[in-house]
Amino acid sequence: MPSRHFLAATVLGAMAVSAGAFPVLAKAPSKAENAKAHAEATQGEPAFKALYKELIEINTTLSVGSCTKAAEAMKAHLVAAGYPESDLHIILSPERKQDGNIIAVLPGADPSLKALLLLAHIDVVEADRADWVRDPFKLTEDGGYYYGRGTADDKAMAAIFTDSMVRFKKSGYRPKRTIKLALTCGEESADTTPGASYIVDNYRSLIDAAFALNEGAGGQLDPATGKYIFNGVQAGEKVYQDYTLEVTNPGGHSSRPMPNNAIYHLAAGLLKVQQLDFPVEFNDATRGFFARMGKLQGGAMGADMIAASKGDKAAIERLKKDPGANSVLHTNCVATQLAAGHAPNALPQRATANVNCRIFPGHSQDEILKTIQDAINDPEVKVTLRDPAEKVSPPPPLTPEILGPIETLTEAMWPGVPVIPAMAAGATDGRFLTAAGIPTYGVSGIFADPATTNMHGLNERVKVTSLLEGREFLYRLAKMYAGGK
Ligand SMILES: [Zn+2]
Repeated sequence: MPSRHFLAATVLGAMAVSAGAFPVLAKAPSKAENAKAHAEATQGEPAFKALYKELIEINTTLSVGSCTKAAEAMKAHLVAAGYPESDLHIILSPERKQDGNIIAVLPGADPSLKALLLLAHIDVVEADRADWVRDPFKLTEDGGYYYGRGTADDKAMAAIFTDSMVRFKKSGYRPKRTIKLALTCGEESADTTPGASYIVDNYRSLIDAAFALNEGAGGQLDPATGKYIFNGVQAGEKVYQDYTLEVTNPGGHSSRPMPNNAIYHLAAGLLKVQQLDFPVEFNDATRGFFARMGKLQGGAMGADMIAASKGDKAAIERLKKDPGANSVLHTNCVATQLAAGHAPNALPQRATANVNCRIFPGHSQDEILKTIQDAINDPEVKVTLRDPAEKVSPPPPLTPEILGPIETLTEAMWPGVPVIPAMAAGATDGRFLTAAGIPTYGVSGIFADPATTNMHGLNERVKVTSLLEGREFLYRLAKMYAGGK
């Protein structure tokens, strides 16, 4: 998950799925059932910790790591649990043999029900030993935390899902709905390593599912008190798109400056981009988010969130000053890179800039291109999409069938802690699956203080208790969706 992640609002997209499409296969647990499920779900923690440690300590960075090694290691656990080779698929992208992925299948009893897919990426961003307090590729427990690259992003969920599949098999659990696991490479480097998108394009049927669970949201802890504030579920994300602004010019000797200068044209164009203020828009989910989050937030900001959800213009203008809230109120574009000139004593012949946009769902990349071109309104400044537009889709619908079990289980495990839907401003691999017709939701039940988890940063960490609770939560949630015994 790119580090610019902000747990914000959800979007109830147009991809309407008729109510009842995913029949709820489990009801709210009674006290006794909850205790029994808790006892069952928390068994085998030592084996889980060993698997998690093994996964963390396999370097899966783009530079020197091997996802294939990690995929093979997880496969060994699944084979030992009794999965036949026919239900295990190591998938290697043709170019890079070290970028392996694995798909495992636990067949369900009811073929009329489409599968549940558990998705997690096993690659991690780079980490330089010299910068870290501890070795980033050694799992270290310290002060109630696990430290290491990928402890949060995303080997926590990869280990939990693999451990759950192992336990499902060993316990003889027969779900009604087939359960599939996909551990993928390349989430952090989609340009170089086509992990999830490669599987969607080449092995669509193998991962076909009614819906998928993925990274993208977690529980939030109060940094000061450690209090559980809310459990997040992410549905949909803004669309990531870079635009290139380029000005070329014949140039000349800098001792004879000309009025028509490539850098000045570009600079003027960038100031127009800076002034871009895309219309604020709400949908059911973003309105719902601000309304609910406003209650939790409290104070002036909370009041503004609630007022904004009712369309209060003044409150919206104030909220736009908060980078987090602003990132989910509308499309945002910002200049991120600049390059110009070829010599200090020569008039510049080329000036280029990158403008990164996070597009509010429902708008195409070309529509935003036109908006930028119209705002700059200078034929000297050529604006183009930096990379081909990814296939986009409306966000997955947050139906009662999806949200119900999450709310039921959250209430059972953390009484009184609300579930807050979110639309991510950052991107996950969920975008490839949702666009391919597999609605993908971000949910983990792993509570954290986002400020100190340090995803992509130095000394990445996860709270040990939160990781183990997330393990229980995801194990039970998968069973609630898949049903069976
Ligand atoms: Zn991630």
